[in-house]
Amino acid sequence: MTKLSVAFFWFRRDLRLEDNVGLFHALQSHFPVIPLFIFDDAILDSLPNDDARVGFIYESLAKINSKLHESGSSLLIKKGPTASVWQSLIQEFDIKEVFYNKDYEPYAIKRDLAISEILNSNYTITSFFKDQVIFEELEITKSDGLPYTVYTPYKNKWLEKYKVNAPVTEFDASLYYSNFYKSNFDFPTLEQIGFIESTIKVKPHNLTQISNYHETRDFPAIDSTSYLSPHLRFGTISIRKLVNWAVRKNDVFLSELIWREFFMQILYSFPKVMDHNFKSAYDGIQWRNNEEDFKRWCTGTTGYPMVDAGMRQLNETGYMHNRVRMVVASFLCKHLLIQWQWGEAYFAEKLLDYELSANVGNWQWAAGTGCDAAPYFRVFNPEIQLKKFDEKGIYIRKWIPEFDLGYGAPMVEHAMARDRAIATYKAGILK
Ligand code: FAD
Repeated sequence: MTKLSVAFFWFRRDLRLEDNVGLFHALQSHFPVIPLFIFDDAILDSLPNDDARVGFIYESLAKINSKLHESGSSLLIKKGPTASVWQSLIQEFDIKEVFYNKDYEPYAIKRDLAISEILNSNYTITSFFKDQVIFEELEITKSDGLPYTVYTPYKNKWLEKYKVNAPVTEFDASLYYSNFYKSNFDFPTLEQIGFIESTIKVKPHNLTQISNYHETRDFPAIDSTSYLSPHLRFGTISIRKLVNWAVRKNDVFLSELIWREFFMQILYSFPKVMDHNFKSAYDGIQWRNNEEDFKRWCTGTTGYPMVDAGMRQLNETGYMHNRVRMVVASFLCKHLLIQWQWGEAYFAEKLLDYELSANVGNWQWAAGTGCDAAPYFRVFNPEIQLKKFDEKGIYIRKWIPEFDLGYGAPMVEHAMARDRAIATYKAGILK
């Protein structure tokens, strides 16, 4: 039997039809295009069966699938180790071309290389594109070609380069939807993939308050930030559309989107940061790493209301306001002297917007071990942070309903913890 000659577009962290660079190019290939998503066992096997992020991916795929039905097509969903999935697709179809968007995380780079090898040995052409960032890899470098490790000059160069071609081109593929392969593939249930619906949901993003972002973003009770992070993580919104819009709206907001790319290029150029200090001089710090203390931090029972409210918000919703993330991270590393990797791993498990580059970048910023990090002797006082950013206690009361009934004593006294942290860091920093 002759096999059908097709092209594939492989969805990964770009779960949208609109302004999707790889998809735009795929639909102009000479072959009917099968849109594919693989639930990758290597990622899923370590997740609980009610993981809310899998639920969000599933819902986003369902939306794509119903849109595809309008042009007589459908999404092919597979589950398994990616290499075996591709090997069986090769048996089923005559795959002429495979298109996908680049992913810069160390695991993804390795996976994509392995899959390209399998496909190329089958004489399949693979084409990959920049999609999830405005500038990737080494597009923004110092004049000597080396990556920036300090944010402000990176940002200045980024803005300079963006403005030369602004607005950046968007890729509307809707004219080519008739090039999707006509199909009605079975769409599995979430249970068939091995998951159940979570009670935690990703919120829609909200851009209505962005013009005041610079004034309101630090106040968790105002809750005025965009909630874009999971959407950027899974690509349900296009970064090009967003940046072309944000550049006209609010500079501070735009600079946060540039922080995202800054940390992505750091991870790309220095992959060791995923689990090692960016500054190896900090490798000698003698962390206390007390498991009981860690448990109190995780469960939001430290006795510091700002820390506890943040951790409870995280545990209940999969989200935490950025200001509070900074406070809880600093508290773990400095007050409790627990190494940042523990906190990073806990966030990775809980955050709906978990993004390796941003998570390690910000954790290392808080711990003082990262590039362009807070100096080690800067120890946030959680009480002062509360007074500054939640003066009326609205945020903390929302997450700690028992607050007014007499809240427990702090598990560690601030002045002692601060001095202990500074002394421990000082003694541990390698000369
Ligand atoms: P907004 O304030 O509306 O910002 C818009 C977008 O800008 C965000 O969605 C995000 O993509 C980007 N952004 C904002 N702040 C940062 C930042 N500091 N670093 C990188 N990008 C930023 N963000 C993640 O997306 N994933 C993570 O795993 C993550 N872990 C963090 C861990 C710690 C300890 C800290 C202090 C921050 C972390 N952040 C992380 C950054 C930031 O807290 C979230 O991006 C933000 O709170 C998401 O809410 P928002 O979309 O409403 O943000």
